[in-house]
Amino acid sequence: MLRFKSLGSGSTGNATLIEVTGHKPTRLLVDCGLGLRQLSARLAEAGLADDAIDAIFITHEHSDHIGCARPFALRHRVPVWMSRGTCEGIGSPDFDGLLQTACDGQTISLGDLQIMPFTVPHDAREPLQLTCTDGASKLGVLTDLGHATAHLLAHLAGCDALLLECNHDTDLLSQSAYPPFLKKRVGGLYGHLSNDAAGAIARSVAHAGLKCLVAAHLSQQNNRPDLARQAMGDALGSRAEVVVADASAGTRWIAM
Ligand SMILES: [Zn+2]
Ligand SMILES: [Zn+2]
Repeated sequence: MLRFKSLGSGSTGNATLIEVTGHKPTRLLVDCGLGLRQLSARLAEAGLADDAIDAIFITHEHSDHIGCARPFALRHRVPVWMSRGTCEGIGSPDFDGLLQTACDGQTISLGDLQIMPFTVPHDAREPLQLTCTDGASKLGVLTDLGHATAHLLAHLAGCDALLLECNHDTDLLSQSAYPPFLKKRVGGLYGHLSNDAAGAIARSVAHAGLKCLVAAHLSQQNNRPDLARQAMGDALGSRAEVVVADASAGTRWIAM
């Protein structure tokens, strides 16, 4: 069985646990945007020790995603997957043989988990988001992008659950205290998804098998949980459960 849990979501730090349960579980940590002690504490809250992680996948080099990836990987001898551009974006540090290069459209096999990275439009060097499957269920993870593309929508087809960025409400962003250049960046084609843009993605990937949608990466200044929930509810109706990921508490374990 596939299950997942956000350990925190938003500009203060992102990390998502994905697990194939069973006799010998496989566990992937998507992004590591926390401090070492914070990550340890949140893994413990999830019922896991630090050494329970089999691999790390880093989506892009922004600090709320890269966080403690390198020291954590070196300390626990965990392989780290990221694109070549992401690695260059953090200055191509030495990973002591643990670095693996992820590419758009090339499957990564990790125990019982198959991971499929795909390119998204975001203001980073070579950002990748992903789907993964245990052969029975498919989970999509999609944060940090400015707009939908046919490429990413094709990758998200048939997901049973989707963790989807709902970064901002367009009205709250336009009225916010953010300086104009930042408003332009966040709301731009290579920035972050508004609730409306996320709703359009949810609508286009909705199908009878989509059971759960997690609204993630909410801006604390320019969004509210009720607005994100409303937008996802409007997009999906009562077909899927909508969960809003908390900036620091993340989500419960969600089984698929
Ligand atoms: Zn981010
Ligand atoms: Zn980013």
